[in-house]
Amino acid sequence: MTNIEQVTVAGGGVLGSQIAYQCAFKGKNVTVYDIGDDAVAAARERVKALRTAYKRDIKATDEQFDAGLGRMSFTTDLSEAVKNANLVIEAIPEKPSIKHDFYQSLAKLAPENTIFASNSSTYVPSTFASDTGRPDKFLNLHFANQIWLMNTAEIMGTDQTDPDIYNQIVSFAREIGMVPIQLHKEQPGYVLNTLLMPLMGAAGMLWAHDVADPQTIDKTWMIATGAPKGPFGFYDMVGLRTAYNILSQRQGDNPQAKPLLDKLNAMIEQGKLGEETGQGFYQY
Ligand code: NAD
Repeated sequence: MTNIEQVTVAGGGVLGSQIAYQCAFKGKNVTVYDIGDDAVAAARERVKALRTAYKRDIKATDEQFDAGLGRMSFTTDLSEAVKNANLVIEAIPEKPSIKHDFYQSLAKLAPENTIFASNSSTYVPSTFASDTGRPDKFLNLHFANQIWLMNTAEIMGTDQTDPDIYNQIVSFAREIGMVPIQLHKEQPGYVLNTLLMPLMGAAGMLWAHDVADPQTIDKTWMIATGAPKGPFGFYDMVGLRTAYNILSQRQGDNPQAKPLLDKLNAMIEQGKLGEETGQGFYQY
């Protein structure tokens, strides 16, 4: 058991609202902080909208869902949001300037003992450690979209993170129903994306160079490894826009990757973005 009972989630967007509700569902008292009244209203709606998924996917009852809601509050006042926080989980936009400013403000307002964790997908924690004023109490705690189902929490410290804090976050991740994935050092992409991105890139190359069609490539992977989804299923799940952005960062200089980027771009222009639009490599 940890002593982490009061959790503040900064940013109530796609992931922040899920993280906040999952913590509350598992018994933590949660404050959601966002930048303005409209953003807070949107965060409240996102949280409320999770009811259907919790009932459908993990068989939560209305009473259980409501009990989670009852442990949550929302505010636009950062000082108020963090004054009793044992842990602040940051889930604000993936823009370094916004995160640097946020941590510098947070450092001045949060109690000395408050642990800070970033949900950043692409920045390793040493990017922001010096802004926090407490590099020993700072690390990344990275969740996946649909966290009630995809319940991994990748935990990655810097060489300044106190091992005791790291271990507390591992225990906290278990307390909120996650499977902690412990990284021993900083790694862009953590474990999952370090494995997944090369697979998706290789599958994309086979398709773009006309070696085989996406369904055949997926079928090969699924039959041969027993996986429930193939790499093009992942393109649709991640969303083609995000997949394009990541691949162009990693492969933008590689002329061999140009046909793949062009083909993905053509699909994006046709609105075939994957599961979110009902059409990608597959129909939903
Ligand atoms: P989002 O755009 O949906 O939400 C961002 C939220 O932050 C919004 O509610 C916005 O109003 C708020 N915000 C903006 N500036 C702020 C500030 N200065 N202080 C406080 N709140 C502020 O973004 P998201 O997809 O939820 O991503 C948030 C973080 O989570 C990013 O670091 C991203 O890499 C990470 N992440 C996202 C996913 C995903 O699938 N979307 C998965 C894992 C990790």
